[in-house]
Amino acid sequence: MVVKRVWVVAMGALILLAVFACSTKQTYVTIGTGGVTGIYYPTGGHIAKLVNKKRAVYGLRCTVESTGGSVFNINAVASGYLEFGIAQSDRQYQALYGLAEWADTGPIASLRAVFSIHPEAVTLVAADDAGIMTIDDLRGKRVNLGNPGSGQRQNALDALTASGLNWESDIHAEAVKADAAPTLLQDGRIDAFFYTVGHPSGNILEATAGRRRVRFIPIVGAGIDSLVIAKPYYARATISSRHYPRALNASDVPTFGVKATVVTSVDVPADIVYAVTKEVFDNLPAFKKLHPAYEHLTVATMREGLSAPLHEGALRYFREADLMEAR
Ligand code: GLU
Repeated sequence: MVVKRVWVVAMGALILLAVFACSTKQTYVTIGTGGVTGIYYPTGGHIAKLVNKKRAVYGLRCTVESTGGSVFNINAVASGYLEFGIAQSDRQYQALYGLAEWADTGPIASLRAVFSIHPEAVTLVAADDAGIMTIDDLRGKRVNLGNPGSGQRQNALDALTASGLNWESDIHAEAVKADAAPTLLQDGRIDAFFYTVGHPSGNILEATAGRRRVRFIPIVGAGIDSLVIAKPYYARATISSRHYPRALNASDVPTFGVKATVVTSVDVPADIVYAVTKEVFDNLPAFKKLHPAYEHLTVATMREGLSAPLHEGALRYFREADLMEAR
């Protein structure tokens, strides 16, 4: 009799557990970011936190993955390995039209835009003792252009080519991840590196904080002027030297830049993309306080730099919140 009662209680507990498990069913979504010293990684974390706060509403469990950067993220979103990725606006354009890394594979028609975030500047950091004052001084130097998979690599190639340098024969090109570059520079194993990143960034702070003094090199000249005019995805930008008191620059540094954007695939359900969009935009004042690079974000700027069609989940939110024409 007692045995039977224990059995009934155990069965009841099991059923309750099963019901609980079903009612708290979660869908996992992952955001691909970049290196941990960049801004994509903490940005993914901030977005995930907002979405996870509403787990009871959406049933979403959002996680973040550190990755090789924009190109990796776009490919991972297209293959279904990641639900979301952060990617430079120029890489979004190139993937959509089958350019640069996608010239052989062709356009990624499944790519969808969600929103854009902070501006990113093509940043060239050089050691003072390497005697580099202009981009042309990179001749014969060891320069990290960035890993394949990163956004910055193509920007570095474009900057060099537009300035009349052959990246294969005029410089000693390295292809390491941006996270490793500040240490390599401080250790004297490279003379300079490119990184396309928002400011201020932990990576650049690290590069400027060591014993080897560094400066930002302006990326300017007739070739860069033509590049920015020719490519719809490039715009002029400046790096504000106030962010890096240890750098040797006395004034702001002219360069060109892009925007960080959030991308997804047409195959990701609209409810998921809607939830992510809504949580970021409904909480924009609080979100903007999470990183100084978000200082100038507005609902209008966050709709710029998107070449791929808007995902229907994002569109649903923007229509509902009456943000389609936001200025
Ligand atoms: N723009 C870089 C890339 O696309 C990443 C910058 C960052 O992580 O903040 O690879």
